[in-house]
Amino acid sequence: MANESALKYKRLILKISGESLAPAGGHGVSMESIVTIAKQVYAASQHGTQIGLVLGGGNILRGAQFMTQGAHVHEATAHYMGMLATVMNALAMQDALESVGCTTRVMTAIRMDGVAEPYIRRRALRHLEKGRVIILAAGIGSPFVTTDTGAAQRALELDADILLKGTKVDGVYSSDPVKDPEALFYPHLTYEEVLAKHLKIMDQGAVTKCMEYSLPIRVFNYRQDGNIEKAVRGEEIGTLISNF
Ligand code: UDP
Repeated sequence: MANESALKYKRLILKISGESLAPAGGHGVSMESIVTIAKQVYAASQHGTQIGLVLGGGNILRGAQFMTQGAHVHEATAHYMGMLATVMNALAMQDALESVGCTTRVMTAIRMDGVAEPYIRRRALRHLEKGRVIILAAGIGSPFVTTDTGAAQRALELDADILLKGTKVDGVYSSDPVKDPEALFYPHLTYEEVLAKHLKIMDQGAVTKCMEYSLPIRVFNYRQDGNIEKAVRGEEIGTLISNF
């Protein structure tokens, strides 16, 4: 393991959306996609930075998708279903990480003994200190928020130095660069700019939470090989969102 005093970040939270875990252009769980990410996370963890992984559930289900008239499901129920989707992703990621040699623990915000450990802050810290990658599943265990907010919440309570958000594009743009060739890339933004420009890179609650506690966010393209490692090592890739 590398010299820990030379690390830019001692501890961080890495948020990866559920979509990243699906087959290209599809839904559900692709072990091929998951193993590709797992290899990168393992390589990044080898340098000594403590990593907490927060996975979304959008590849399986998002609570908001049921919010149509006559859906016959309470909005809260739909969100709980979304949280359970993140647990499925976490279990798949755990096996993928362990298959490449990484020691992990899955911790869930909704108790499900027999499947994974409950999330207990001090226990999470202990796992991190022992060099285990922790996979934080079921968001924060409460409906009406997304895993972005969960990631911000966990980053704050675990004293992470930064929240990394892996996306499909190179960082934050003025509009969706996939649809708009004129989209402007921002290498750096303040939290206020993200909120004022209504940039849809993370939900606003998550950005506000990070702003309140000056927790920096780096948005980067996880699909480019080696980028997770670069982001974990503190290289200036993607977009940094901070106070100045
Ligand atoms: N969710 C929730 N509380 C949480 C985290 C997630 O209710 O603390 C639900 C919410 O419905 C969300 C779904 O779980 O849409 C899946 O998470 P998310 O949409 O953040 O996944 P991603 O878009 O990152 O794949």
